[in-house]
Amino acid sequence: MVAPEAVLEWGAPAMNFKTIIEPFRIKSVEAVKFTTREDREAALTQAGYNVFRLRAEDVLIDLLTDSGTGAMSAAQWSAIMQADESYAGSRSFYRFEAVVRDLTGFTHIIPTHQGRAAERILFHTVLKAGDVVPNNNHFDTTRANVEVEQAEALDLVIPEGRVPHLIHPFKGNVNLDALERLLAEQGNRVPLVMVTVTNNSGGGQPVSMENLRGVRAICDRYRKPFFLDACRFAENAWFVKQREAGYADRTPKSIAQEMFSLADGCTMSAKKDGLANIGGFLAMNSDAWADSARTLLILTEGFPTYGGLAGYDLEAVARGLEEVVEESYLRYRIRSTEYLGDKLIAAGVPIIRPTGGHAIYLDARALLPHVPPLQYPGIAVANELYIEAGIRGVEIGTVMFGLHPDGTETPSAMDLVRLAIPRRVYTQSHIDYVAEAVISVAQSRERLRGYRIVSPPRTLRHFTAIFEPLA
Ligand SMILES: *Cc1c(COP(=O)(O)O)cnc(C)c1O
Repeated sequence: MVAPEAVLEWGAPAMNFKTIIEPFRIKSVEAVKFTTREDREAALTQAGYNVFRLRAEDVLIDLLTDSGTGAMSAAQWSAIMQADESYAGSRSFYRFEAVVRDLTGFTHIIPTHQGRAAERILFHTVLKAGDVVPNNNHFDTTRANVEVEQAEALDLVIPEGRVPHLIHPFKGNVNLDALERLLAEQGNRVPLVMVTVTNNSGGGQPVSMENLRGVRAICDRYRKPFFLDACRFAENAWFVKQREAGYADRTPKSIAQEMFSLADGCTMSAKKDGLANIGGFLAMNSDAWADSARTLLILTEGFPTYGGLAGYDLEAVARGLEEVVEESYLRYRIRSTEYLGDKLIAAGVPIIRPTGGHAIYLDARALLPHVPPLQYPGIAVANELYIEAGIRGVEIGTVMFGLHPDGTETPSAMDLVRLAIPRRVYTQSHIDYVAEAVISVAQSRERLRGYRIVSPPRTLRHFTAIFEPLA
């Protein structure tokens, strides 16, 4: 991938060339299956025109999610073979704990089977009905785990973070005035403040260190604990290094350590920046909260030294957390997402800008102005990408967010198609192919038609809904 002109600001590349290469060579490969257009049409019809219902082996390039889909390194696989599967006090737990503590500085490190288990345990421990949890944007499992406690999940991202085409270096920042107002007026309802790095639901956009410091200061003033949803902490650290004054010469690890030092705890899905296929953790400084959390953990996840994971999972995460902060990895990772974004922008395809860390978000509503939101332009684009090229993305729009608990349906704020990039899985030519396919779909936009839902309404309908193309 050829670097942008800003390459000189990127810190010193290892060589004096502009081309950023994949910082690995490939030892083991997995074949992808090529299908014909007729195969794909049949598969999608069979799946009720919902790409979630496809068999993954009928997909050529799977950009459904970057969660748990990354490739592990030879070092991770060999650590797996060395793992200790003792029920209590396993060596693999102590290695995991040491790596997480070195990175985060938190006192209590509680493994969980994935991120949402950490969320459930934290929120069930600290929330009561009527509470409010502010965040830049809650991820969907975070929101659901707040709401199941009958508390309110409040999104306080800066206004710039809500405008797809608007360029801002830290579109994931928290609106500090709104946070201060909330705590001044209703502080008694707020047991903790959360910030998601990077802001997944807001387009994978980063949060600046200055903004995190601002959140810390407000939390200190109102004596509130501050937790990070840290799923993509390393990608956030890389953006801070690139874009924030004073960080260009710092290592990503030391930037990440500074981010964690501002917080009192975190929830983490190791399926993202843990570079593992499964795993997560809850970490914090509070002895009292950790005590309650471990009690709940034993009830639903497992003993505190494995938390629903095998010893080998703990080893894979420990090694993954060391690899994810390597500069060569992060430079390639963020550049490969940006590289796809640059190609689409150059071809005039509307996307959320600037490109975030882990995904490209196509603006399906802007692309298909002739398809009204309640005819699901995101589904039209996602399905055409699959039929045309065997690529699977995901609608993030009216199907996902438009149905309300009272059964009514309204357009969501945006109709997007997310193309999430798995870590260390696809090569530059795969990404070139994706760009070519998206541009081809964009060129045939006038031909695309909307859909209607023919299955009964239910919550989280995007996973299971059956669609029918409109004539
Ligand atoms: C993926 C994710 C979660 C939930 O983690 P799981 O491992 O999928 O349970 C929480 N927050 C954010 C920001 C995420 O991206």
